[in-house]
Amino acid sequence: MKLDPNREFWNPKIELMSRDEIRQVQFKKLKKQLKYDYQNSPFYRERFHQAGIKPEDIRTWEDFQYVPTMTKDDQRWCQEESLQRFGHPYGMLACAPIEKIVRVSATSGTTGMPTLYTLTRHDVKVNRELHGRKLWRQGLRPGDRMLHAQALSMFTGGVPTCDAVQEYGVCIIPVGIEGGVGRVFQFIDLCKPHYIRCTPSIAEYIIQKSPEVLGKPASELGLKGVLCGGEPGPGIPEVAKRVREGFNVSQMRDHIGGTHNFHGYSCTVEPYPGMHLVSEDYCVLELLDPETQKPMEFREGRIGEMCYTYIDWEGTPLLRYRLGDSLQVHLDPCPCGDPRLRFRIIGRVDDMLIIKGVNLYPTALKNVVLGFAPRVTGELRIFLDAPGPRVQPPLKIQVEYGEGITLEDLPGLNKEMREKMHSLLRVTPEIEFVPPNTFERTTHKSKMIVKRYEERGSS
Ligand SMILES: [Zn+2]
Repeated sequence: MKLDPNREFWNPKIELMSRDEIRQVQFKKLKKQLKYDYQNSPFYRERFHQAGIKPEDIRTWEDFQYVPTMTKDDQRWCQEESLQRFGHPYGMLACAPIEKIVRVSATSGTTGMPTLYTLTRHDVKVNRELHGRKLWRQGLRPGDRMLHAQALSMFTGGVPTCDAVQEYGVCIIPVGIEGGVGRVFQFIDLCKPHYIRCTPSIAEYIIQKSPEVLGKPASELGLKGVLCGGEPGPGIPEVAKRVREGFNVSQMRDHIGGTHNFHGYSCTVEPYPGMHLVSEDYCVLELLDPETQKPMEFREGRIGEMCYTYIDWEGTPLLRYRLGDSLQVHLDPCPCGDPRLRFRIIGRVDDMLIIKGVNLYPTALKNVVLGFAPRVTGELRIFLDAPGPRVQPPLKIQVEYGEGITLEDLPGLNKEMREKMHSLLRVTPEIEFVPPNTFERTTHKSKMIVKRYEERGSS
């Protein structure tokens, strides 16, 4: 395929479709997929029978909600059951015959049996297409060199990502992070990449150590951009600023999606607008009400439990799969010109708090606070006097104000922030401002919730 490096989208025909058009494409593929799943997976067939439906009963989007949902535990059960019945872990769910499976990937999860993704040659092709769409929008062009410094091996963001990148003429330097950061430095020096793909913590570590290890600051490594994954980064203004300035690049973007069908990327619009979902013609996304588990209509800013279904997929086509993550969707047009739905993963459904019947996620609160940077640092804590999820109002939070803010500024900031929280989240917390750097910073996801009732119990 001859590619014009100046074109904006990898596959404009699909990527610039309106929401209505993409929904039609999805439904056509969905009907075919449901039939395929029913015919080829004993697990799905049984689930349909239990629900008293057949694939041909699904004639509208409304009907689709009667197809049972599944979780990671179901996936693990299928693997165990397959081992018993077929002597391999795939038979219950991997709908393609074993000889058609050409790749196996696994989640990076550390607890319990790894959950497997199997791909046929068709799926590998789809996967490359989805990576192509993301990376093109992230600015990579044939001739660029990208050093991959995330986990490699069969982790979904490892080998599959590298495979997809080289497919369209980008040179991949698959160092991986398993061999330590020393190796990463060695290959930066030797191969002179234009892009580095890593976690935000590794990016910051390279900036910190570069003068000592390479004898020059990271700003002189000649990078065009830093592509992050695995942890939040570009959405946190102070992290994004440190990484951009440290490497002297204009871009620090993040992405999601390895060897499955849920792929998104962030553009360079500021403030961080979430990630664009690039794979809707291969993945049906639903938002479920966390309490009733019924699908909710998509509206600007709406938050619900993420549930997805693979379409046009042969190996392990997950069907109404719930991972326990909460997602916020944005339908407003993004200034970058990408018309697609945007989303933010805002935490685990288990982290949800309920205040006067309103569902609130700590990350959603943090996103509002981040919108006030640099008047605030973005750090906050939520104090609970009793176990959740129900909280007796008002919700009590502490927010770090930014450098250069005086005490006289705080009442105005307080009012503005409470109004913003009320209008966006329908929650009006009691805010106490504290000086910058009051809260401990960690490279791990810091605990935003302080359980005061536990502290009392242990004292
Ligand atoms: Zn955008």
